[in-house]
Amino acid sequence: MGPLQIREILQAAPDNQTVVVKGWVRTKRESKNAIFIALNDGSTIHNIQAVAEPGQFSAELLHTVTTGSCLKVTGQLIASMGSGQAVEVKLTELEVYGTADPDAYPLQPKKHSLEFLREIAHLRPRTNTFSAILRIRHALAFAVHQYFNDKGFFYLHTPVITASDAEGAGEMFRVTTLDLNNLPRTEEGAINFKEDFFGREANLTVSGQLEGELGAMALSKIYTFGPTFRAENSNTTRHLAEFWMIEPEMAFFELEDNMDLAEDFVKKVITYALIHCKDDLNFLQNRLEDEEKSKPQNERSLPLLEKLSFVVDNPFERLTYTEAIDILLKSKPHKEKKFQYPVGWGIDLSSEHERYLVEKHFKKPVILTNYPREIKSFYMKLDEDGKTVRAMDVLFPGIGEIIGGSQREENYEKLLGRVHEVGIDPENLWWYLETRKFGTAPHSGFGLGFERLVQFVTGMGNIRDVIPFPRYPKSAEF
Ligand code: ATP
Ligand code: MN
Repeated sequence: MGPLQIREILQAAPDNQTVVVKGWVRTKRESKNAIFIALNDGSTIHNIQAVAEPGQFSAELLHTVTTGSCLKVTGQLIASMGSGQAVEVKLTELEVYGTADPDAYPLQPKKHSLEFLREIAHLRPRTNTFSAILRIRHALAFAVHQYFNDKGFFYLHTPVITASDAEGAGEMFRVTTLDLNNLPRTEEGAINFKEDFFGREANLTVSGQLEGELGAMALSKIYTFGPTFRAENSNTTRHLAEFWMIEPEMAFFELEDNMDLAEDFVKKVITYALIHCKDDLNFLQNRLEDEEKSKPQNERSLPLLEKLSFVVDNPFERLTYTEAIDILLKSKPHKEKKFQYPVGWGIDLSSEHERYLVEKHFKKPVILTNYPREIKSFYMKLDEDGKTVRAMDVLFPGIGEIIGGSQREENYEKLLGRVHEVGIDPENLWWYLETRKFGTAPHSGFGLGFERLVQFVTGMGNIRDVIPFPRYPKSAEF
């Protein structure tokens, strides 16, 4: 079953038992009386210290033990005399699995910028910061599945390749096997997609929602958790071209149930991370505190763990879009013309508006509901007044929109009306529309951008740093 991991060895009692440790060298330090090697295998933020006596191993062998090299060491687990750790390994054997030429290895034991680390995404998981983020990302993903499983949801695998470009959530990536240098043409000169692999135009999905709804109309409560793709050329700190989305979809849930679920869900998964990722969160909190020191006192944010506990412990503020617009119209930045974009009923809130509401006005997560129909998707249920829809966006400090959801329109005629209104050919969505013909029911759902959640929990400023290999305009190297 493989060797013990460093995480396990660090918790063992030091009884002089022989242990084998395999990992990568973080640092090597030589003093007159001993040689100290800090090893890490990614199982924990903490290193294990291996200690050798001068002369115990040949200078030639020791010379190849450098930052980044990979070792197998054997020795006795003893109580550490140093102050940094409880136990350490007194070396008896040392094998170098792989060297890392110090003149070429880019990760040296010093602080590297996040921008630089993005350029070496193949190696950055070996840093403390990224290994912590990746472990937290894993814990959150696990918590997502556990949460839904406990609540009686079924994990539905919706397709990655889709032929319906109806969702309108953003620009799509085309999937084709046509020869781009020799495209088949129709008599009118258009590209003949009948000759393409699927016999029609196909794209990478922007959301699993529409298929998710089909599942909910049979299994009652489903969720998806998969990759989604948006070819939007938005070079922001909150957008990726490939990101993971969690989309629960529930029959018999109305908007209020949907909000309750969204709030409970994010609180529970954050709580899971608080319980299971203490060491990594502490590490990231210290890292952030270093960064914050360069900011003026009044611009500094709460320490990471306090911020997470605050979100878990306090109810989210719930208000309608119309109420939010009123608050913005009365706000200081509006009166002083400090907002870049104008405020008025009917606007699509921009992130400066969302951030004002969350960070300045309420100082906590906010759920906005009942948006104007014109700025929301066709599938959202119309309110009685016909002007607004039963939409809900969850807005988070530092992130902006983390969840977008709604009660779905279950009335066939109304839904068809909206489909026509936004200019979608109902033929393309016949299967979606049929759920409203056969046994329709009130239902709701939402989409949570997984990376935005990981961003919030880790406190990372850029979404490109919370996914192992980010995809964004002009970048798909690794
Ligand atoms: P935004 O206005 O921030 O672009 P959106 O309205 O396009 O978001 P939805 O289509 O509602 O977002 O998608 C649901 C969720 O997916 C969002 O709340 C957000 O958390 C996440 N999300 C959307 N686009 C991206 C992206 N390009 N990269 C990462 N996450 C995203
Ligand atoms: Mn978007």
